[in-house]
Amino acid sequence: MASFNTYRFKGRKVIIRVDFNVPLDKETFEIIDDKRMQAALPTINKILSDGGSVIIISHLGRPKNGPEKSFSLSHLTNHLEQITSRKVLFAQDCIGEEAQTLSQKLNPGEILLLENVRFYKEETLGDANFAKQLADLGDCYVNDAFGTAHRAHSSTTHIATYFTRENKMSGLLMKSEIESAKKVMEVTQRPFTAIVGGAKVSDKVLIVENLMKTADHIIIGGGMAYTFKKALGGQIGASLCENDRIETCKEILSKAGDLGVEIHLPVDSIVADKFSADAQIDTSKSDEISENWMGLDIGPIAADQFSAIIEGSKTILWNGPMGVFELKPFEEGTKSVASAVAKATEKGAYSLIGGGDSAAAAKKFNVVEKISHVSTGGGALLEYFEGKELPGVAAIHK
Ligand code: AMP
Repeated sequence: MASFNTYRFKGRKVIIRVDFNVPLDKETFEIIDDKRMQAALPTINKILSDGGSVIIISHLGRPKNGPEKSFSLSHLTNHLEQITSRKVLFAQDCIGEEAQTLSQKLNPGEILLLENVRFYKEETLGDANFAKQLADLGDCYVNDAFGTAHRAHSSTTHIATYFTRENKMSGLLMKSEIESAKKVMEVTQRPFTAIVGGAKVSDKVLIVENLMKTADHIIIGGGMAYTFKKALGGQIGASLCENDRIETCKEILSKAGDLGVEIHLPVDSIVADKFSADAQIDTSKSDEISENWMGLDIGPIAADQFSAIIEGSKTILWNGPMGVFELKPFEEGTKSVASAVAKATEKGAYSLIGGGDSAAAAKKFNVVEKISHVSTGGGALLEYFEGKELPGVAAIHK
């Protein structure tokens, strides 16, 4: 793999796979949040200022069957011109004659944005011929799309086989994402606390099992905590529960004992008589929840206990909210965890927050600036911490 910082981009046509999967207004197609575009800017700007030209490949949304106006990357052209202060050309098809002609004529300092790569089903199928047609548009390949690094798609993985090792590399965003994930995975400072939340045990089993090998503490909150409580014999009322995962929870709890990792579950919960912001609300022990009531957030005692563990930690990974933080009555648990992670970081801990919902929570509770790294990758980060190889990262190393 080449090094992005030392590569000579001057006069080269550089293909960059970015993650410009930004939310768009359904009617006006205006960009609602350009965070993902901003995140790729350092990579794009470095290549342009070194005298290279840039050919941008991205996906947008989940088009089902060919081109769809609502998923066209043409909606991003004007904004890309504004934030780069460069002329942006647009190819209405990511492969074929127009893309070839525009890329051939591209001058140093110019940007060519290609239409949504997922308008071709070949992209997600990892079709080799499609990957080759994309590769033929440029001289070298930069992967800066950490958010899709866990996908073995044509433009994230197979394309790399058409470039020599000297001509493929990670971009700056990809590099910083991998470095921060590695820093947590290698745990240079202890105690290491992993906070895992969100709705389902089934989505998080692998990450919990893998983190048990390295973490000192694993804090489990959110809907997934109630299957654990039930596994311990608790009464959880109408809280989220995956009955087919009860055995898995028992195994995790018993393995944790063997490995010497402490698993912390919420002792109390904010319970509600329905899943709604105007529900009746009460506080209950998490294993004595009345019939028909459901736990929708960790309670105040759990929030204090979790915060104390987090504030005493030196390495922190957080994936998944502690409750239904989107609704005001159930936001307090996630808010207090966010604030504890920020406080620990101020005291010198290294903190990584990842996964769409936890990143959204960090933003909602104004702690983003106080966290060591807020990842742009949801699924990719999760798979990294599950111990899996990311195909998009592996491909540029081959
Ligand atoms: P995930 O995508 O698995 O990280 O789950 C995030 C979602 O889990 C958020 O939309 C939360 O509202 C939801 N969630 C968190 N805690 C609970 C809970 N106790 N009951 C139901 N849903 C929850």
